[in-house]
Amino acid sequence: MLSEEEARLRILDKINPLPERAVPLGKALCCFATQDYFARLPLPAFDNSAMDGYAVVASACKKGARLRVTGEQPAGRDRQLRVSPGDAVRIFTGAPMPSGADAVVMQEDVTRDRDEIAIDTDVEAGEFIRQRGCDLAEGQRIVAKGERIRAATLGLLASQGIADVSVGGEVTAAIVSTGDELVQPGGKLEPGQIYESNSPLLNALLQRCGAVVKLVELCRDEPESLSKAIKQASKSDVLIISGGVSVGEHDLVKDALGGERAEIDIWRVAIKPGKPFLFAQLNQCKVFGLPGNPVSAFVTFLQFVRPAILKMMGAANLDLPQVPAKLAVDLTNDSDRAHYIRGKLEDGKFTPVGRQESHALFGLSQANALLRLAVGQAVCGGEMVDVQIWGL
Ligand code: AMP
Ligand code: MG
Repeated sequence: MLSEEEARLRILDKINPLPERAVPLGKALCCFATQDYFARLPLPAFDNSAMDGYAVVASACKKGARLRVTGEQPAGRDRQLRVSPGDAVRIFTGAPMPSGADAVVMQEDVTRDRDEIAIDTDVEAGEFIRQRGCDLAEGQRIVAKGERIRAATLGLLASQGIADVSVGGEVTAAIVSTGDELVQPGGKLEPGQIYESNSPLLNALLQRCGAVVKLVELCRDEPESLSKAIKQASKSDVLIISGGVSVGEHDLVKDALGGERAEIDIWRVAIKPGKPFLFAQLNQCKVFGLPGNPVSAFVTFLQFVRPAILKMMGAANLDLPQVPAKLAVDLTNDSDRAHYIRGKLEDGKFTPVGRQESHALFGLSQANALLRLAVGQAVCGGEMVDVQIWGL
């Protein structure tokens, strides 16, 4: 059986980033930049006022000084005004500093009397001026290749006058859930049947990765319908088949893929939960066969599917975020597979939650972090460990 690390490497080795595309900023959220971006403009682009107030020469502004107001500089157009010692220019937030002025006194610290102001405070040079380039220098890198474009990244790109951004390709995905026992939520259950719960879970995980789900299908454990569903779904970049990848007589996915001439690269990985995991390639489509047990599907998605999708999208970092946590209890991994313990991370403390079994969906729903225990690893309560979080 393949180790989890080998499986991940082998999958990622087969994945290539999709061709890049240029998109307007409004469509770029959560995409990955396919090139470095550098500042064309410094930020701020010119010295400007941080307050509504008066631009002054600080050395001529002792507390109690009276100054003559010689002009007004609003934001929007540089009136090219000048301030001499003993004078002041009325100024507003974001307005360019008049030449000669080296400080702004905020209006709350001034008493105005027609064309004069009395300064009610001491003034220091530089006060309330946002200096050109103090936030960002021209030429400085603002986005790195492979970086996730977040809300603030979009703001920063726009501040540079950039309207379109080059990002990784859109990953399309299909989900095929298999199982004779499965009934769509909303339908009526007969004895022995259960509601199909993997596709909503996988759909959400796919969307959170940034993939676009084009097809969701429920399929019987029956070779012909399985082949038909696989053929249709493999038009997507990624196909996720849930269930039917284990070793029972009703686990038909592997054969159905073989029948479609898919190349099966991986079947069975030393991961708990999730051992029957399968990875195959069918034409251009990357096929992930996830075990039907919901927790196994969840864990194998995060460990194998997520990094593959991120790589297709052009991401530099394929790992789940990790945070340090203090372990609440002793834990040992006696199994022959890497074990992902589901738990709750709260106030820096990780506590296993619910039944640690692959069908235990309620426990998973209460968890917000995974602790990976390597084969044979033992950790004690109170010890610091790194846990993975997925934030959804
Ligand atoms: P399988 O991987 O097909 O052997 O299924 C393993 C377990 O997961 C069985 O108990 C199935 O009933 C259950 N299961 C499979 N697919 C789903 C699904 N889509 N939703 C909920 N449970 C499922
Ligand atoms: Mg099944």
